[in-house]
Order: sequence, then structure tokens, then C-alpha cells
Amino acid sequence: MKQEVPIRLVLVGSPGSGKGTQGKLIEKKYGIPHLAAGDILRQEVARGSELGRQAKVVMDRGELLADAIITSVIEARLEESDCRRGWILDGFPRTIGQAKALERWLAQRGENLTAVVAFELPDAEILKRLMGRLTSSVTKRVDDDPAVHQKRIDIYRRETAPIFGFYEGKKLLVKIDATGTVDEVSRRIVAAVKT
Ligand code: AMP
Repeated sequence: MKQEVPIRLVLVGSPGSGKGTQGKLIEKKYGIPHLAAGDILRQEVARGSELGRQAKVVMDRGELLADAIITSVIEARLEESDCRRGWILDGFPRTIGQAKALERWLAQRGENLTAVVAFELPDAEILKRLMGRLTSSVTKRVDDDPAVHQKRIDIYRRETAPIFGFYEGKKLLVKIDATGTVDEVSRRIVAAVKT
């Protein structure tokens, strides 16, 4: 389905919350690109670029790249022509600093977010899904390491969860129950993000 009014969505959720899967479904449904910050960084790692070399060290530790670095990577991507009709950001912003940078970037262009979709999932379920991802050759990723799972969740709670309040204040936050099947979660998102 193609749409006329640009849709600009941000997906926020812990590692393993299903943002990536849902982002791809929304991409298909609305015909706008799904931009996953982690995927963009993993491509840089695979390519062996300078950014990729810097990113790998940080990603392997389960930590976050500096706001200034990831922000410039994402903004450059959003300025490409395929983003004119909208986009789905997955894994960015991940800190209040990144959220503010995105606000400034949008304001400069006179653009607004459509909604920020918050994926809610208990820690026990997150760990179960991350462990499941490790044993699947389809979904396993180079930076998946059980030793850093808990650290990534802790950093998510500490650094990323505060952006919920930031977007709640702007009346953009839509909370989604991320438990259940892919179809169930997808239906909840479509119902919540009526355009
Ligand atoms: P993800 O695939 O979204 O889980 O991201 C994988 C890794 O990439 C994260 O653990 C971080 O090291 C890095 N990363 C992805 N997005 C960001 C971001 N917005 N800010 C800082 N680091 C990021």
C-alpha cells in the first residue's frame, strides 16, 4: 500500500523486542524504508570502513556509540532520496541526546514525527528471545553474545527508556504490548498508528 502523507515512525524497544521484524512489515505495508541503526552499523563493520572499525569495538561490548557519531550516520541516511515519502527508524534514537538531535533535524526541515512506538516486554521474555536468536542461523547476528545480553538490557533501561518520557511529553508515544505472535503485535501497531 502506498501513502501520500509522509509517515515518520520511531520504533523503541529493548534488544529482542521484535522492532526489526515489525519494522520490515511496516516497510512493506507503507512502502517506506525501514532504517535499523544496528543493521547500518553491521554493514559498516562488514565493509571494514573506519566507522565500522570503531563501531565493532563498542558493539562487541554491548555499549552504545557516541551520540555525535550515530546521529550523523542516521541523519545522512535520512537525507537520501528514498526517505522523502517517510521512513521507519529502528534503534535510533537510543538516548535523550539522540532524541533531541533528531528533534532539531526535523525542526530545521519543518517536519514532524508521526508517532513513537514503544515495544513493551518483560526482561524474562527479552532474555528468552535473545537466547532463541543465538540458536537460529537465520536470525543470529555477529554481535549476539550471551555474556553481553544483560548488559545491553541494563543500558537500554538506563539510557533508552528515559526517551519514553521525552516523547510522552510531546504526545507522540504509543505503547505496544510486544508479547505474543508477530501477527498479533503487527495488528496492535497498525491499530495504534492510524494515519
Ligand atoms: P541493534 O541491532 O539495534 O541491537 O544494535 C546493535 C549495536 O549497535 C548496539 O548494541 C550498539 O552498540 C550499536 N547501536 C545501534 N544503534 C545505536 C544508537 N542509536 N546509538 C548508539 N549505538 C547504537
